Amino acid sequence: MTILKNTDIQIIASLKQLLTEAKLNIAIVPHEHPDGDAIGSAIGLAEVLVSFGHKAQIISPTDYPDFLKWFSTETEITVYSGNEKLAKSIINESDVLFCVDYNEASRAGKLEKTILTFNKPKILIDHHPYPSFFCDLIISETHYSSTAELIYDVVCNIGMEKHITKHAAEALYTGILTDTGSFNHNTSDPNTFKVVSELMKFGIDTQKIQSGVYHNFSASRMKLLGYCLSQKMVVFPELRTAMISITKKELENFNFKTGDTEGFVNFPLSINDIVFSAIFIEKEGIVKASFRSKGNFPVNHFSRDHFNGGGHLNASGGDTKLSIEKAVEKFTQLLPGYKHQLLETII
Ligand code: 5GP
Ligand code: MN
Repeated sequence: MTILKNTDIQIIASLKQLLTEAKLNIAIVPHEHPDGDAIGSAIGLAEVLVSFGHKAQIISPTDYPDFLKWFSTETEITVYSGNEKLAKSIINESDVLFCVDYNEASRAGKLEKTILTFNKPKILIDHHPYPSFFCDLIISETHYSSTAELIYDVVCNIGMEKHITKHAAEALYTGILTDTGSFNHNTSDPNTFKVVSELMKFGIDTQKIQSGVYHNFSASRMKLLGYCLSQKMVVFPELRTAMISITKKELENFNFKTGDTEGFVNFPLSINDIVFSAIFIEKEGIVKASFRSKGNFPVNHFSRDHFNGGGHLNASGGDTKLSIEKAVEKFTQLLPGYKHQLLETII
């Protein structure tokens, strides 16, 4: 069993005691606009808790894409947007609240206040750097590839490994798969593959998961991708940077659905010598930004310093209240200030 590096043994003991003394109603909240790791971690954890005998429900702050809706699970997922009253009452009536795959309460979007005022045991399980301390028990292991990998180890550390089901294994595998970009990044730690190999023992169908996640898009999403790459991508070779911006109107032209732009920001990184990629997407009243990098160019700092966000060294996100045009202008004006750092980045 892998011993968690940053988590005091006392925290594990407290969690074990909390989860084994009584049968509980448990709420699990992933971050808003949840990705594969957030949803996979939430479902994986819920499956284990239910198999132990607890009642577990997932409340997602916002809707999530179809390519994350194929999981085999009995666990109910309530989306807050559109079901505000129900979502809040599920959380408030729970005995325990888990926050998974985020490091600050604001990442739960409109559920931030509900989470902050929840006055029963609150547990954070996350792998993002710079956690804030809004939970009673904090399991923050920033060297993990994904929260899903961490949840597997937490479950083993609290002696619940016998309650991992095939459905839990499938969900946790999905979290690891998506947060590592199909085992492309954040995979320098052998533990990631050790956990994957343990999950494989449950007989999960990796081909089915691959298809569910990556071969599950609409034709209009594919056309939107083509449009973004051919018409909307701007390359700054002298700054080793590429950027895509897309307006609300353009999204509507391609029948945009939640999740359709997921992964677009990664494409420019496959251009020779590009180390920094950005995408700006116009939403209702806000522009959402995503950043990716290669090498040691820290996009989490970039996002934190200029776009109200954060994340990992090589993958971050944020937002701005500026118009899309002004957001792009701000970005292009900031770039020269990073020229030195961008040119020095070793890949
Ligand atoms: P994505 O670009 O796929 O939305 O997110 C990439 C990474 O950045 C994820 O680890 C995600 O948790 C983080 N991230 C995305 N948006 C935000 C944000 O608005 N604030 C913060 N702090 N992190 C974000
Ligand atoms: Mn994650």
